[in-house]
Amino acid sequence: MRYSGFRVIAEALTGHKGWTPAWRDPEPQSSYDYIIVGGGGHGLATAYYLAKEFKQARIAVLEKGYLGGGNVGRNTTIIRSNYLLDGNEPFYEFSLKLWEGLEQDFNYNAMVSQRGIINLYHTDAQRDAYTRRGNAMILHGADAELLNRDQVRAMYPFLNFDNARFPIKGALMQRRGGTVRHDAVAWGYARGADMRGVDLIQNCEVTGIRTEGGRVTGVDTTRGFIGAKKVGVAVAGSSSKVMSHVNMRLPMESHVLQAFVSEGLKPLIDGVMTYGAGHFYVSQSDKGGLVFGGDIDGYNSYAQRGNMPVVEDVAEGGMSLMPMIGRARLLRSWGGIMDMSMDGSPIIDKTEIDGLYFNGGWCYGGFKATPASGWCFAHLMTTDQPHPTATAYRFDRFRKGLMIDEKGQGAQPNLH
Ligand SMILES: Cc1cc2nc3c(=O)[nH]c(=O)nc-3n(C[C@H](O)[C@H](O)[C@H](O)COP(=O)(O)OP(=O)(O)OC[C@H]3O[C@@H](n4cnc5c(N)ncnc54)[C@H](O)[C@@H]3O)c2cc1C
Repeated sequence: MRYSGFRVIAEALTGHKGWTPAWRDPEPQSSYDYIIVGGGGHGLATAYYLAKEFKQARIAVLEKGYLGGGNVGRNTTIIRSNYLLDGNEPFYEFSLKLWEGLEQDFNYNAMVSQRGIINLYHTDAQRDAYTRRGNAMILHGADAELLNRDQVRAMYPFLNFDNARFPIKGALMQRRGGTVRHDAVAWGYARGADMRGVDLIQNCEVTGIRTEGGRVTGVDTTRGFIGAKKVGVAVAGSSSKVMSHVNMRLPMESHVLQAFVSEGLKPLIDGVMTYGAGHFYVSQSDKGGLVFGGDIDGYNSYAQRGNMPVVEDVAEGGMSLMPMIGRARLLRSWGGIMDMSMDGSPIIDKTEIDGLYFNGGWCYGGFKATPASGWCFAHLMTTDQPHPTATAYRFDRFRKGLMIDEKGQGAQPNLH
């Protein structure tokens, strides 16, 4: 079924009886050409582009829970391409371009909203670093503007400009950045993949990966063995667990990241804002809730819930930036499991096992990467060559010392 304005009106006039399920609920077949493990944003996007752009068939996505129940439906919805390093910026700019045409492409309203993102700076050194980053973005064809203090004040007069411990001096702005309704992205890709014959199999946990003579032959699941010529793993926070089935130890740790939503408020913040003197970022949802977050919980975990110290830490960041936030009530919070890589950058690569591919290490920034990650992973799985924008996302960069250390913090996942 194609969605359109006419369809919405027709259904409204006839009692909404004509809508059909957005995707099928098929039984797994005995084998596929491609199995994608993980029905999050990246897995679903990979299946979608495998079918649509790379014209592949006999594809299944295996999801241990329900589609979109992982980080793709738990993140704070920010998209942007404001990166500094060569290994990153072309990839994230490719992703932002895909976001810009995504809703037309998969015929689904994902509420892509390019409302702009600003990164506040508080020192001269930080201004210089942001200037450099903005110039790198422009050189890669992205948009960037440096705002001075008065320009920021005109946008957000309620920020703590005058009495702050870390006074705001300006901001780096990317107008094309913004937000996207996160779970709609999973649903849009799922529907688009299903329409092209991809089997989306929920409640199907992969419990083993079988190989023979150095080649993958399929996966063991809670619904039995399923054969495959090629297997792509895109399970985000569960990466280490799933790859341990083939005895691979990843340069990654799993941590919890929490998100918070306040009660609905009148329109206050029309873009996305990040604090430069602490880890706090905020936007306002269309329903009025302030959507915000900060640091990861500082311990390894596979639990999709967080703890109090980080709630306090995030609230402190918010209070020091915009003190009136202390009067808003917190409505809900939740956690997601992050696959934190050692340099804070992802991996989209083949493994040493023929036919087994890996996509992970997205840390807390993988939502914005969803379209490009799916596209590049599909490219890799069909051609066995990395996509031109993802050539740096290799396992061997850690062995060779070619880290993509965007934050310049070294091999410390808790800092990325
Ligand atoms: C609180 C929070 C805020 C964030 N904010 C942002 C943001 O603003 N911007 C941004 O760019 N990024 C953000 N992120 C990061 C982003 O959400 C993730 O990097 C990205 O969603 C990860 O990729 P995914 O969508 O494929 O993951 P997921 O949705 O987690 O998908 C992985 C799937 O694999 C499944 N799975 C696991 N093990 C198995 C198995 N054995 N068999 C079958 N299936 C399995 C899981 O159930 C899950 O559905 C945030 C994350 C969190 C938690």
